[in-house]
Amino acid sequence: MSAIDTMAGLSDRQRELVGIAARLGREKFAARAFDYDKDAAFPFQNYDDLRAAGFLALCVPRRFGGLDADYATYCLVSAEIGRHCGATALTFNMHSCAALWSGALADDLAMSNGQRDEHERHRALHYRRIVEEGKVYAQPFSEGSAAAAGKAPFGTTARRVDGQWVLNGKKIFASLAGAADYYGILCTEDKPGASMRDTLYLAVPKDAKGLGVVGDWDPLGMRATVSRTLLLKDVSVPEDAALMPPGIYHQAATRWPHMFLTLAPTYMGIAQAAYDFTVKYLRGEIDGLPPVKRRMYPTKQIAVAEMFVKLEQTWALFRRVIGEARVDPPKHARLRCYAAQYTIMENANDLCRLAIRTCGGQAMLRPLPLERLYRDSRCGSLMLPWTAELCLDRLGRETLYDPGESDE
Ligand SMILES: Cc1cc2nc3c(=O)[nH]c(=O)nc-3n(C[C@H](O)[C@H](O)[C@H](O)COP(=O)(O)OP(=O)(O)OC[C@H]3O[C@@H](n4cnc5c(N)ncnc54)[C@H](O)[C@@H]3O)c2cc1C
Repeated sequence: MSAIDTMAGLSDRQRELVGIAARLGREKFAARAFDYDKDAAFPFQNYDDLRAAGFLALCVPRRFGGLDADYATYCLVSAEIGRHCGATALTFNMHSCAALWSGALADDLAMSNGQRDEHERHRALHYRRIVEEGKVYAQPFSEGSAAAAGKAPFGTTARRVDGQWVLNGKKIFASLAGAADYYGILCTEDKPGASMRDTLYLAVPKDAKGLGVVGDWDPLGMRATVSRTLLLKDVSVPEDAALMPPGIYHQAATRWPHMFLTLAPTYMGIAQAAYDFTVKYLRGEIDGLPPVKRRMYPTKQIAVAEMFVKLEQTWALFRRVIGEARVDPPKHARLRCYAAQYTIMENANDLCRLAIRTCGGQAMLRPLPLERLYRDSRCGSLMLPWTAELCLDRLGRETLYDPGESDE
């Protein structure tokens, strides 16, 4: 029994889609989360369920056969999945963004007629793979340099050779490593004077010659994301591998900033899960545990009250920000977006901390989910390009300076 109605104010379509995610999460994902986390294994069964529900095509536009979820609807569905399995939600984000960014977001961006036609042809191919073949896309952009923070060109390069792109480089923390069918690689066109404007977004098939998955994966949290390292050595892909035409990713990153907030819904769901668990635990309603009630202690009541306040604050900002996402948002909306990312990532971890302190020692034993929520929640504010630090960095600068302003 949660006092928070996460469905309040949603459209009928949003309720329907979030309802499906809730059913999958409750009936399937939650029960499997412990083993996937323990083994740091990719949640293939969850993806089979998502595929069967048509959810792999959640963000594919309707005219290409998808469920046509818009940005806000995607975020709501993602939060609901995160409530039951954080790693499934986070990897589902990497997959869904391939369609969201090349679909609804790209439609808002400036392209020449030629680019638009080319993009239409290319994305039809990617969407067909997702809709008809149930293929899964990953989104490796991190390299361990300033590139993933959006401050330098990607070190991974792609050179045009005889109508092909030839890629070389390395990606770290590639969620879905070894599990995805295609890796949506962010890289820089290999040409003289190349800059961040020359970013390419190319889908590399898992069996491409020269692509390797290396390294161990034994992290603190989000273990089932299996975010290992990718090596690319002279990997050749055709031009239709492009998920966006040359130059359009950079335009998206500058004009559609909310595209980077899509990691946050996972952690919104984890925050809700920590609260859900605490209420059930204090009421003595956790399945498999003796029905011991702890709700009568005033200190517990105060702690839950604090959690409720923090959670409602987080939901309020989340709901507001996903509702105002758009191309070329006004300055106040862009700054609020950074504030939302910061708030969700930090509050998710703080709510898990409060949940453990409030419920006590028995509640953090495995296989109860609380200790996993706590570990998973710690990862949120590390996610580039908008780590908690970088959100503060951007907020500090952009509140005080308008674009182009300096003190010289
Ligand atoms: C569970 C999990 C899954 C992930 N999945 C993916 C994925 O699928 N795809 C993907 O591309 N990445 C993924 N990442 C990677 C993530 O976004 C980071 O790139 C990764 O955590 C490496 O960060 P780092 O702290 O080592 O980065 P570093 O570059 O070492 O940065 C360290 C810290 O310094 C700060 N910093 C970095 N650059 C600057 C700068 N220029 N100016 C000021 N401060 C800066 C930031 O706050 C950052 O947290 C994942 C990470 C985790 C934890």
